[in-house]
Amino acid sequence: MNRTGNINTRLSDIETGNTIVITKVSGHGAFRKRIIEMGFVKGKPVTVIKNAPLQDPIEYELMGYNVSLRRSEARLIEVISPGEVVDLAHASFEGVISGGPQKTSTGEKKKSIHVALVGNPNSGKTTLYNYASGSRARVANYGGVTIEAKEAKINYKGYIINIVDLPGTYSITEYTPEELLVRSHITENVPDVVINVVDASNLERNLFLTTQLIDMNIKVVIALNMYDEFQKKGAKLNYDELARMIGIPIIPTVAVKGKGIDDLIRKIIDVYEDKDPVVRYIHINYGVNIEEAVSKIQAGIEDNKEIKNRYSDRYLAVKLLENDRTTISLLKNCMNFGKITGISQREIARLEKEYGEKSETIVTDAKYGFIAGALKETYIENKEQTRSASKEIDNFITHKILGFPIFFFFMWLMFQASFTLGGYPMGWIDAGVGFIGKSFIPLLMGFGCNVPAVMATRTLENRKDRILTMLITPFMSCSARLPVYVLLISAFFPKNQGLVLFSIYFAGIILAILSALLLRKILFRKQDVPFVMELPPYRIPSLKNTSIHMWNKAVQYLKKMGSVILLASIFIWALSYYPRNVKFSADYDTMTEQIKSDPVLSNVAKSERTAELELIKEAERQEKSFIGQMGHFIEPVIQPLGFDWKIGVSIITGLAAKEIVVSSMGILYQADLNADETSGSLINKLQQQQHTSGKLKGQKVFSRLVAFGFMLFVLIYFPCIAVIASIRKESGWRWAVFGMVYPTLIAWVVAFLTYQIGSLLV
Ligand code: GDP
Ligand code: MG
Repeated sequence: MNRTGNINTRLSDIETGNTIVITKVSGHGAFRKRIIEMGFVKGKPVTVIKNAPLQDPIEYELMGYNVSLRRSEARLIEVISPGEVVDLAHASFEGVISGGPQKTSTGEKKKSIHVALVGNPNSGKTTLYNYASGSRARVANYGGVTIEAKEAKINYKGYIINIVDLPGTYSITEYTPEELLVRSHITENVPDVVINVVDASNLERNLFLTTQLIDMNIKVVIALNMYDEFQKKGAKLNYDELARMIGIPIIPTVAVKGKGIDDLIRKIIDVYEDKDPVVRYIHINYGVNIEEAVSKIQAGIEDNKEIKNRYSDRYLAVKLLENDRTTISLLKNCMNFGKITGISQREIARLEKEYGEKSETIVTDAKYGFIAGALKETYIENKEQTRSASKEIDNFITHKILGFPIFFFFMWLMFQASFTLGGYPMGWIDAGVGFIGKSFIPLLMGFGCNVPAVMATRTLENRKDRILTMLITPFMSCSARLPVYVLLISAFFPKNQGLVLFSIYFAGIILAILSALLLRKILFRKQDVPFVMELPPYRIPSLKNTSIHMWNKAVQYLKKMGSVILLASIFIWALSYYPRNVKFSADYDTMTEQIKSDPVLSNVAKSERTAELELIKEAERQEKSFIGQMGHFIEPVIQPLGFDWKIGVSIITGLAAKEIVVSSMGILYQADLNADETSGSLINKLQQQQHTSGKLKGQKVFSRLVAFGFMLFVLIYFPCIAVIASIRKESGWRWAVFGMVYPTLIAWVVAFLTYQIGSLLV
């Protein structure tokens, strides 16, 4: 590496495979804070895992975990080569035992213990929670699954342990909705004991959160999770010694196997009962300069009994040094608020002048220094690590060139499977097993429901990113739309089912990407969003987690079937049943009588012809029903897409939930009331269907082109009431309305182009 001689070498300039050391993080605000919390601090070595000149983001390894950064953001980090490092090493462990108050359990001593799980995303909190509580919260190997706190009760040896699973955070500041939730849970609900779940194979970064818990002066037990992975790596940690140093008991656990959980619960009880010798309150020594500032601010807070009873004043002082808004507004009502902020502003200015860094950074640096010191004395890394399987897999499936075909192969495989495997349950349906086999296909598909996805956008820190993601999420086809595709593909594309289905999903992905680019250009110009994403290692999902996942999906789907869809179906049925006093174009009753009294016709012919008349009458009645009128009303708009009024009606009914599209088609195309996507007679009817009005009257409604356009339309237009409701909840009415109008317009344009251009070609 020869470029690092220059002081201004940037992380973004470093080529793949090289390791450098961070000297400075510039930039400001949210980005800077987040990036420092993730461990990009002065003195830390970083290895470039993947960096090609035109590739964005770039992947790095730092403190043993992988993280990706945008090129523009990596440019804000200054680096030097390891050879140039003179003395950036952190101080050794300087935890100081405080003469201050013992950590005490809040609330009166009864046999009920409130426990909260706190830790980084993917450290195994939910797995641990599920195991301990025997419950079935959803676990996944990506962030943002635990969005709301979940709660369970465990009975253990006469204690009732109330355990809360909180969302994963890298820190407890006020930066993301998760962090705010965790923070307010700790300060408002005041758990008796906090379980800090720490990913053992990723100690340094995970312990950063621990330092904040130490500041808060609350009772903590560390679950040293993923201990299996840690041991496999061959690293060694004297965790008893570390526990003594930081005053927090540490219990190794393997949450997926349930190992160590009993010990953990026993330890929680000991700590709650103040019986654990390890527990004590330590100060993180921030160094002379910061300590001086902290004690000055602390002295200022001193007078406020009420605040002091609820929070550690040292914690508040450190927070004020970090310019923490929540703390500032917490102290706003204090008598001497002016004095306190006066002191803290003065101290911040003094420190910033001395260090030439933001005060936040100084404190964060000191915390990492503390961790480095503590680990130096207790932790031995295995230097000759063999290349892990995770890395090998990653190199292969995220390969620059091979990555895409591999991705598409798996997608294709999944779609093909949904037809071949789905064929078995379809057979059972025919045999009368009922709807359990119907929910099989949606279950099989990973694309699930858009609603939780919209809710999961809360994990994005930037509001604009959140809204953008919310708006493009519905382009990812959800399982509710699948029945429509299955029906139309079975009817019109029997030869290349998997391929056509794949192309629909793929179209959704492409549209999402294009929309993101477009909306970013038009609506969200001029902004820098920090993009720092942890890339968790691949973990083989446990059978238990997978079955819990599937169970949740089944429940989610059945609930929806039972409520929204049932109600909407009844409503649609009513709209197609009324009004009853329809003026028919012919006197069907008299005609029926005439046929019946015809002396020439045989009895068989009579019943055939009356049945036929009855169907014609019913078709006319439906056309004149409320829903038929609605369909006709929008017919001029959808005619250019090759759609008839019945498709129009199906589209309208799909506003409630897209599952209803198929059942509406069943009613309208007169197959049977209980039509589903596997219904043979509905497929026949669709193939025979002719336009009953408009310019195309008499022609077949469905060509392959129309069927394809219809599927695209269903994919793209108005997601469903539930999605719009959650967009409104997350970001307000304005975006909810946009979320209705924008996709519907796009759907129309796409279906229009498909039909018109396709008609020219065919
Ligand atoms: P959370 O984000 O903290 O709730 O983490 P999860 O409970 O969702 O777990 C993330 C992943 O780690 C899942 O794939 C789990 O199966 C896996 N996992 C959890 N605990 C352990 C463990 O002790 N050892 C190993 N090897 N994997 C684990
Ligand atoms: Mg979780």
